[in-house]
Amino acid sequence: MENTNTTSALYVVATPLGNLDDITLRALATLRGAELIACEDTRHTRHLLDRHGIRAQLLAVHEHNESAAAEKLVAALREGRRVALVSDAGTPGISDPGARAVAAVRAAGFAVVPLPGPSAAVTALSASGLADARYLFAGFLPTKATARRAAIEELAAVPAALVFYEAPHRIEETVADLAALLEPGRTLVVARELTKLFEQIVAMPVAEGPAWLAADANRRRGEFVLIVSGPPPREGLDTATERVLKTLLAELPVKQAAKLAAEITGAAKNDLYRRALELKAV
Ligand code: SAM
Repeated sequence: MENTNTTSALYVVATPLGNLDDITLRALATLRGAELIACEDTRHTRHLLDRHGIRAQLLAVHEHNESAAAEKLVAALREGRRVALVSDAGTPGISDPGARAVAAVRAAGFAVVPLPGPSAAVTALSASGLADARYLFAGFLPTKATARRAAIEELAAVPAALVFYEAPHRIEETVADLAALLEPGRTLVVARELTKLFEQIVAMPVAEGPAWLAADANRRRGEFVLIVSGPPPREGLDTATERVLKTLLAELPVKQAAKLAAEITGAAKNDLYRRALELKAV
């Protein structure tokens, strides 16, 4: 195992999103040297390990047992065992279990060594063709409609492309909400089944997203990353509105200042919120 001179450490290993060849040489060497591999679904990870002839004890770590499993990982590290952490696909801790185990291991005084590799968000971004300089990884949106719409409204004015994960049974409602709540000309990139047989990456104005999905049932199948380009350039605020916003911003958090400035001046809340974020960043 690499870095064994750092004594015991937890190796956080990224694994393929679909194509089993998408695994680094370093990941294979590390998993081969591991005595204990913490994973989400032991059958899923066994399939990957079998393909590479790797035998190791597996420990299931999921949402519901992560704290208890973290203690077992720490105990194994104390015994001097070589321990790795993987998830079902991609990078552990990214919309996946792992964060609590990593925190517990570090709190117990052991090093955490990340092995970079696939992550669906970065994979989709690399083929999106979007030129935004900034990206905000939003992960999964809330499943309840009201909370999901509130989350989209909160993100609408953020001056960055937005990256979401979505499951097939919610793809239509999520794309419908994005189309209803974001400026219609923003570009939506749908990245489906990345690295798999039916991989598909398409770009369209977000307003056209619902019709594109409705046109073919196959387009609603599989795993999805959705990326929406950043908001269009904002019209400048007039001097009086800008002064009100700056005055409120000196005393209040961004959201509250933008809301009150909208009530006082009648300017659009999204424009004020975006300008407030710019002013705060200076
Ligand atoms: N840890 C993973 C990563 O680093 O990307 C993400 C795990 S999260 C539980 C699973 C979600 O990631 C899926 O619902 C989908 O949104 C996205 N995803 C994973 N594999 C994908 C793929 N092959 N194509 C498109 N999206 C994928």
